[in-house]
Amino acid sequence: MNNERQHIDDHVVEQLSGYVDGELTQQQRQRVDVHCANCTECATDLRELQELRETIGNARFSNRNQDAWREMMNDTTVQTTRGIGWLLLIGGALVCLGIGVFVFLFGSSVSLVEKLIVSAIYGGLALLFYSVLRQRLIERKTDKYKDVEI
Ligand SMILES: [Zn+2]
Repeated sequence: MNNERQHIDDHVVEQLSGYVDGELTQQQRQRVDVHCANCTECATDLRELQELRETIGNARFSNRNQDAWREMMNDTTVQTTRGIGWLLLIGGALVCLGIGVFVFLFGSSVSLVEKLIVSAIYGGLALLFYSVLRQRLIERKTDKYKDVEI
């Protein structure tokens, strides 16, 4: 009786955290178990602590899920949409340019000098477009590496 009384007086509050985290030895765990069976105060603390850990654990888990989901969305949907957008833009631009160049070069009402000047302008535009596109592709690669670092 006296022994049990001592158990109750000697609260195990400091060990509850370790108990929940599974850091205690078998002997220490048993002591907490025995104490909490007799002491509602510590038993309540232990239950609250366990609920808290569970909530934090769940929050962490759902955060990780959200990250994975975001990564997946970023990898598939966003990149596919972006890829299709670029493809349509480039394809459309190339078709327009091709038709324009064809009509221009084989139209009889324009002089050779004018043809050369406008060809140079279109060529310059095409080169600029290509360099911007290249830069964007490189930036996209760099962004990917940044994501990995974070
Ligand atoms: Zn206690």
